[in-house]
Amino acid sequence: MKIAIYPGSFDPITNGHIDIIERAVGLFDKVIVAVSKNFEKNPLFSERERLEMIEKSVVHLDNVVVDSFQGLLVNYASENNAKAIIRGLRALSDFEFEFKMALMNRSLKDEVTTVFLMPHAKYTHLSSSLVREVGELNGDVSKLVPSHVMKAVKEKFGIE
Ligand code: ADP
Repeated sequence: MKIAIYPGSFDPITNGHIDIIERAVGLFDKVIVAVSKNFEKNPLFSERERLEMIEKSVVHLDNVVVDSFQGLLVNYASENNAKAIIRGLRALSDFEFEFKMALMNRSLKDEVTTVFLMPHAKYTHLSSSLVREVGELNGDVSKLVPSHVMKAVKEKFGIE
């Protein structure tokens, strides 16, 4: 069974993340979408809220498991028998950071391979931070996130 982990902050999940999950499901037998408990970041949504939003966004997909993790990603991957880490590559600006991470993870555990997937071109400039910023200013994020996420963003900022 080919298992992949798709780790991230997902604060909140966007259509770009969902595009990557849908592509990954076509390549692996099981995809674990894993929310990282990164204490350095100060997320807008709680871990529980992020997990719930991901769950709702992947109901149409079989073989997707939603989880959270803490500590070294490569250890979490091994514990779950995953041989692949999925990361999304958007613009060139993602490359340097992702390249460093992938090489570090490889040096920590060579048997876990990072696989980069590109989203549809329309999501190349989409990020969770953009959704948070536009959402806070009551801008229209309906093309960027599922409707339940849009509702949650509005609620978070106290917008009707
Ligand atoms: P992190 O804090 O780990 O970067 P994110 O939730 O921002 O968490 O992103 C998780 C992964 O999803 C990263 O590999 C990121 O490059 C990718 N990603 C984020 N937004 C998109 C998008 N619009 N299209 C494709 N990949 C994306």
